[in-house]
This record gives sequence, structure tokens and C-alpha cells, in this order.
Amino acid sequence: MGAIADAMTAYAQPLIDETDGSPEKMQMALTTAMACWNIGTLPEDERQAAIDSFADSLGLDESARRGLHDDVLVPMIRRYDEMFGQAFQSRGPRRSDWKSTLELGWDSNLEAKPPKDQAPKPGRYDPCPCNSGKKYKFCCERASRAR
Ligand SMILES: [Zn+2]
Repeated sequence: MGAIADAMTAYAQPLIDETDGSPEKMQMALTTAMACWNIGTLPEDERQAAIDSFADSLGLDESARRGLHDDVLVPMIRRYDEMFGQAFQSRGPRRSDWKSTLELGWDSNLEAKPPKDQAPKPGRYDPCPCNSGKKYKFCCERASRAR
């Protein structure tokens, strides 16, 4: 077996342990583990749709579906992050940095920030470089001190 297959088997182990060992249940455990693995490789904001479509594909009723979601899918996706998150993000920011970026609410905050250190600092009573029409002192200078 290759490294990926070994990793997949290790990943699926908790689900396999819960089966009675019948080929049918084992197959289901592996299918579910594989789906969670694939969902784990997705960016955070695409995961929910993938979880929903996997749950839909099983044709479960509402309560079975909720149970699967809470007891299997969510913990297994978290397990994916714990086992492999580091490896797949090794070219990005370190995981701790990545997490703090997420906690800052990056999609709401980052784009609103004015560029830093690009222009020379304006005088405090000059019009603000953000084109708000206010004096710098009462606009972005205040904002930059508040940060
Ligand atoms: Zn401004």
C-alpha cells in the first residue's frame, strides 16, 4: 500500500472500529471517511456545501442526517485538519498564523484597511488620502492610532 492509502486507513480507523466488520458497513465507513477527507481538503467556506451534498446523496431522513452530520462528518473533518492540516498547508502561512488570521475575521477587515507605508505621511490638517473629504487628523490618522 502507498503512503496515501496508509494515511487513509489510519484516518478512517475510528469509523471502521464502529462497524460490525461486515463488508457492507466497512464499505460505508470507508466511503464516509473518503468524503470527509475530500471535504477536509476544501477551503473552509466551501465545506458546508460539500457536507450538505454528501448528506443529500445518502438519502437519509432529517434526524439521521443531523446525527451523521454532528457525530460523524464534523468530527471526521476536524480529524482531517488535525492529522493533515499541517502537511497540506506547509506552503502557506504556519498553522498558528493562519488560525489567528481567521480569528481576526480576515474577509471583513483586511480589504477595508488603507495601504500602509505607500505614501509619505500627510500633514494632520491636510485632506485625508483616503478621499473621504475629511482632514487626515479626524479620519485615517485616528483610525491608525486606534489599531
Ligand atoms: Zn481617511
